[in-house]
Amino acid sequence: MTQEIENTPAIAPFNTLGLHPSVLAAITAVGYEEPSPIQTQSIPLIMAGHDMIGQAQTGTGKTAAFALPILSRIDANRREAQVLVLAPTRELALQVATAFESFAAQMPTVNVVAIYGGAPMGPQLKAIRNGAQVIVATPGRLVDHLSRNGGLLSTIKYLVLDEADEMLKLGFMDDLELIFNAMPDERQTVLFSATLPASIRGIAEKHLRNPQQVKIASKTQTVARIDQAHLMVHADQKVNAILRLLEVEDFDAMIGFVRTKQATLDIAAALEAKGYKVAALNGDIAQNQRERVIDSLKDGRLNIVIATDVAARGLDVPRITHVFNIDMPYDPESYVHRIGRTGRAGRDGRALLLVTPRERRMLQVIERVTGQKVAEILLPDAKVILQARIRRLTQDLAPRVKDKENKNVELLAHLTTELNCSAEDLALALLAKTTEGQAFTLDGVEREQPVLAPRGRDNRDRDDRGGRGRDDRGGRGRDDRGERGEGGRERRAPLALSEGKVRCRTALGVRDGVAARNLLGAILNEGGLSRDAIGRIQIRESFSLVELPEEGLESLLSKLKDTRVAGKALKLRRYRED
Ligand code: AMP
Repeated sequence: MTQEIENTPAIAPFNTLGLHPSVLAAITAVGYEEPSPIQTQSIPLIMAGHDMIGQAQTGTGKTAAFALPILSRIDANRREAQVLVLAPTRELALQVATAFESFAAQMPTVNVVAIYGGAPMGPQLKAIRNGAQVIVATPGRLVDHLSRNGGLLSTIKYLVLDEADEMLKLGFMDDLELIFNAMPDERQTVLFSATLPASIRGIAEKHLRNPQQVKIASKTQTVARIDQAHLMVHADQKVNAILRLLEVEDFDAMIGFVRTKQATLDIAAALEAKGYKVAALNGDIAQNQRERVIDSLKDGRLNIVIATDVAARGLDVPRITHVFNIDMPYDPESYVHRIGRTGRAGRDGRALLLVTPRERRMLQVIERVTGQKVAEILLPDAKVILQARIRRLTQDLAPRVKDKENKNVELLAHLTTELNCSAEDLALALLAKTTEGQAFTLDGVEREQPVLAPRGRDNRDRDDRGGRGRDDRGGRGRDDRGERGEGGRERRAPLALSEGKVRCRTALGVRDGVAARNLLGAILNEGGLSRDAIGRIQIRESFSLVELPEEGLESLLSKLKDTRVAGKALKLRRYRED
């Protein structure tokens, strides 16, 4: 049925893919330097009008892989619905809609509407009636709209099923069929899915026409023996995480990889402000300046370079002890390529990787393809940071203390006399001077750590699809916008409980790799409850709360006594707020 297209390593720039000039201008504005592998493969196929199956997970750049060519193909002057993107959750629908809006920023006549549960239907319908060309919807809510207005999708020419496997897992199969039937047969259909089980192939067989298949490389990659570690972090906590890790990692020179030009500048500026010798390297930087940066990294005038993959191409500096994957690479091949820049010339190398909750799957793919575990590390706390600072200061002072020929003996005598103080007083004053700007007490380090910023609604990494199930129609249900997983901010006003429910707590949270759907699955399977019996699920950094029926709670908790989630004991307990 399908034709496999092998991954092609050669990278053609965005402007050779036939995209609309307005779309190209928008790409430049968002700072993408080159297409990711999934984009390189998908864009020409979609531009040529093919149906397509893309096997790709979050983090590969899949959204742009379909949004860019589809926006290039629509008739921007026709004010009617032309594109429908179906996404499993409201959160993803909003993200996709936002991505479409940013890629259509230079197309003033193009409008995008997001259709999802939990928000009034009126304005959504109005936006469609007003001629929004792009509809991004969750299936349940879209079916509600269809039941009132069967002709809603009659002008659709492009259909995208995003995260199709997730939609099926959430039970949207019937809704999908209803939606397919409400659409013209003459259309281009693109399906993206992280996995391709038989159910997805079935849909493709029935509803796609001679689809081309695209996937990211999954050839086994050989990785040099590099010490690899990852840290789970929310996107808006990355700078904080980088600053903390740099304090405790013993590095000589480091290259940090990010995805956009802007990120190279922002992160380099944040590090420079903390006194690091750092430079940004991106595709906008002139060749002679680039060479200067590389020379400086080689001879130690610089210790850190923050680069995009494009700008780092061919960069070979034996001094590099650390590769820091600040943004996730697009595929395992690129990961292996990036980390291969350390551990040169027989030296020890270390590779660090920041993973946002939505990118967890990408980490698994990297581990599978490289056949190596990337160990998890935790964010260094104030105590660890303080120890590292003291260690560094000690290392710095040790040779000076042993230096018998210290030329400052006379100066010491002069200063103690002049200041009328003991050598100890003077030592304390000098310590205060050398440690200026950096705390050397636990309290001080704690105070220095930036307050964790609240996470905005539009953050791309919110892992909150789980547990919502078919509640995308809105109304009751696990409609928990704005109340979960805000990194580090654990205290919030409790929400009103549903009737007959009590709140239970587990010590498992985001940091343990737990998502709402894992909790839901475990409780459904092992507790023998119906879906309706489980209320709101809130996943926080270091714990989670689940609403369960008060009736029969004790027996339920005892059934769940030995349940494990994400490999760890669930240990669910009744939670009493005071
Ligand atoms: P996705 O896999 O669609 O969720 O995209 C993951 C992230 O990669 C998003 O933050 C995108 O903005 C970013 N991204 C996608 N394509 C590119 C590209 N070609 N260059 C830089 N960043 C990109």
